Amino acid sequence: MMAEYLFTPGPVTTSPEVLLAGARPMMSHRGPRFSALLRRLQNRLRDLLDVDGPVLLLPGSGTGALELLSMNLVTPEDRVLSLSCGVFGERFREIVARRGATMAAVDVEPGRAVTVEGLRRALAEHPETTVLLLTHNETSTAVTNDIGALVASLPEEGRPLVLVDAVSSLGAMACHPQRWAVDGLASASQKGLVTPPGLALAWLSPRAWERASAVASPSYFFDAGLHRRFLEKEEPENPYTPPVSLLFSLDEALARMVEEGFVRRFASRRRFASALVAGASALGLVPFVADERARSAGVTALVVPGNRAVELQRALRGLAVEVAGGQKDMKGLLVRVAHYGDEGWPELALVLGALYGAMREVGLACGSAFVERAFEAWEERV
Ligand code: PLP
Repeated sequence: MMAEYLFTPGPVTTSPEVLLAGARPMMSHRGPRFSALLRRLQNRLRDLLDVDGPVLLLPGSGTGALELLSMNLVTPEDRVLSLSCGVFGERFREIVARRGATMAAVDVEPGRAVTVEGLRRALAEHPETTVLLLTHNETSTAVTNDIGALVASLPEEGRPLVLVDAVSSLGAMACHPQRWAVDGLASASQKGLVTPPGLALAWLSPRAWERASAVASPSYFFDAGLHRRFLEKEEPENPYTPPVSLLFSLDEALARMVEEGFVRRFASRRRFASALVAGASALGLVPFVADERARSAGVTALVVPGNRAVELQRALRGLAVEVAGGQKDMKGLLVRVAHYGDEGWPELALVLGALYGAMREVGLACGSAFVERAFEAWEERV
């Protein structure tokens, strides 16, 4: 089988060590060895998030983690304000709307982040808001929102419960819900945590736990309080059979991140992103996110001239390079190149070289100084 070079925003290229960890012999999930594994995972995830309190880990994907927040924290009486930058902001909105809450929807122009000004304006229009939905990293447009600044701008009095989708941020960039005064955070294993897909992850603030205990979750499976009670047993466990192999893999992935250092890891993703933009710009592919500060460290969206993104993606696939296309009405406009894993200079040269070949193949005009431009940017951030 020909090797495939994976640059999609989840699943991402996962190291052999992490994959092999998942092949370890099964162990009972009702025993001391499993409890020790859960304790270690809790400690590492708490360090990564810089939080107190349990980090819930359960089978599922990012959507499952969003559902967990919705099922445990939102009631039909809530007035929800959703600020969306794209497809995943809309999904979070839809999930929460199914709880029967009243929804106020504000859509930010694609390619832009939510601004403090925009949030203030939306809140002034909806002063009755009890729950605020935000996306840390909007994968469909490759925009990162400054959650810390946004939450800091909220009024102290009558502050809504802040729920954040961190599915495509956690592990690739600083994500500190407690420091930022976020109340509920949802994520998953297959992007910045560089682990195979299948694990949903959620963290709740003390205020959110209080609310969760007052809300009877309509979901049996996603009952956050139940998961917490099991995690806080003297010998921690899961209420239901957990995906043991995935937890082995996550343990290995987190051990590798600890060894590298979280801050160094975030810097390495940022370095890749800026060198990719430099190289791609030299090829003639414009970054979709004009404001450099709002560009994601985990995924980069590039505008393909002439709305030829689908053809370009297909040509890349012919070279065994898998990138993501644009979603919904940005299908022909964008290719999205993800860099959540351990990609370094060789992978950068590979993806840029493949883009060059694919652009030539589909007849798009392109520059040839891309390696040099990318290397200059690469060297700027050691
Ligand atoms: N939210 C964001 C920001 C995402 O990027 C994704 C997936 O790409 C999701 C939610 C949904 O996650 P999943 O596909 O794991 O359910």
